[in-house]
Formats: sequence, C-alpha cells, structure tokens
Amino acid sequence: MRIATFRHNNTRHVGRVSSDGLHVQAFEVSADIAHLGALRLLEAVVAGGQWPSVSSQQLAVSDVQLEAPIPVPRRNIWCVGRNYHEHAKELSTSVFKDSNTNTQAWPIVFTKVPECVVGPFDSVHLPGAQVSEQIDYEAELAVIIGKGGKNILAADAMQHVFGYTIVNDVTARDVQMRHQQWDMGKSFDTFCPMGPWMVTADELDGTHTRVRCVVNGEQRQDGPTENMIFDIPTLIETISRGITLFSGDIIATGTPAGVGMGLKPPRYLKAGDVVRVEIDGIGHIENRFI
Ligand code: MG
Repeated sequence: MRIATFRHNNTRHVGRVSSDGLHVQAFEVSADIAHLGALRLLEAVVAGGQWPSVSSQQLAVSDVQLEAPIPVPRRNIWCVGRNYHEHAKELSTSVFKDSNTNTQAWPIVFTKVPECVVGPFDSVHLPGAQVSEQIDYEAELAVIIGKGGKNILAADAMQHVFGYTIVNDVTARDVQMRHQQWDMGKSFDTFCPMGPWMVTADELDGTHTRVRCVVNGEQRQDGPTENMIFDIPTLIETISRGITLFSGDIIATGTPAGVGMGLKPPRYLKAGDVVRVEIDGIGHIENRFI
C-alpha cells in the first residue's frame, strides 16, 4: 500500500494512493490523527488494528499538495553515513579521510532534527553564503519502523520495517566537516525533503531496489541498495542496541556514489537548481533550491 500525507482545501489528510500513483483517497480519520500524517495510523495498525476506511472521493494526486508521509516525526531522524562502498571511496580524501572502508566495524550514525523535514516537492532554502557555501545532495532510501523494540537482532529486523520512503539528506559540507559531530551540517531548516509517500514493506523489498539522483536533468547518482556496506537488518540491529526504536522512527540508510563533493572538482548546489531523487518501487521527489 502507498500511504500519502497531503493537503487539500487547506486541510491535512492521510490517504491511500492508487497503484498507478495518480489518485488518492483520504482515510476517514479525525484532524488530530491526520495532523501527524501516517504516524498514528501506522501505530494503530502495528498494534493490531485495521486500516480505517477511505473516502469514496478519488482525488487526483496532481490536485493535492503532497507532504512528507510523516511530516512531524516524533524525534530526530536516524541517518547512516558512508554506507555504500563506492561512495566511501569517492570521499576518502575528504570527510572520510581517516577511515579504511574495508575494515570499518560499525556504521556511522548521526541524526537530523525533525523540524528540517519538508514535503516531496517543497523548496529547499539555501542558508546563505555566510552560513555555508557547500550545499550538497544525498539521495537515500529511508526505512520507517513499524513494531518498535530494543536489542533487535538482524535476523528479526525486517519484521520491524513498516515501509519505505525517499529522502534527500541535504548537507552543508563545510559545516559537516567543521564539527566533530555531523548533526549541524545536516539539520538546516528544510534540509530533509521526504516522500512522495510511504510504500509498505509487503510491496517493496528495500534491500533490492535502486536509488538515483538527478540534478538539473543530469544523473549524478545511481546505486543498488545491495551495495550498502551495512545492510538494513544490520542497521536496525545496531541502532536498537540499548536504544528503544519506536513505531514511526525513520532511518535514512545512506547515499550511493556521485555526491557533489565527490566530483572533481566538487560541484555544490546553487539557487535555482532542481534535485530529483528516484527510488524504484516508490517514485520520486523533486525540490528546487532557493
Ligand atoms: Mg546521508
């Protein structure tokens, strides 16, 4: 099932998207529930409830404003750094210069603040040259946790995946490298476009799909998720070691090779650029940088 959060007539709704991605029908739920997007519905279904019924009214997706499927995450978004082999290589002279990609025992994990989430077609605001001159894109598959838990074993981890969505882990490279921790360079306002909807795990195998990024019509990234250094079960096992994961938690699983910083010379984003992230089995998001 594809579950979208969207605005229609100035009201936020959660709805079921048709398999061709062209129409959406709102779930019949209160405004309080819809305010958190898919989060409350997901929690209810994980607890054994049924999906609510949907309105008989079919809206064209082109007539609504899509928002992030979980527009107000309950807490920070978990993110994984350097998680594709080729991407680790391309950054081996910069942000990852101290590490050997072949002997890394543990994934790099950081977070983005929930308030940086924006919709799948919203603008991303460049913070201004006085703050950063090195804004970069990172196309990523995001896992949405269903059943929560602590100390989840990799062998059981896929049972905790509710679904998947797309994020662009937008990054200020100069700020990322200035601080020992990455959160600041990753958390600027609007730096986490997400969507266009969530696809449930029964319809998509996130361990076998493909992540692409296109900047102004030029393809920059194209990587299969099989090439992750730490696969999705390992990421869930690692992050849940001693930390309870909750329903609705989001894990951005890292980006393939081809980021702007890895090009020779590096090519950073500027006002007017349009960045599209596509994942097979989900769809695409597309954001103008202003
Ligand atoms: Mg990233």
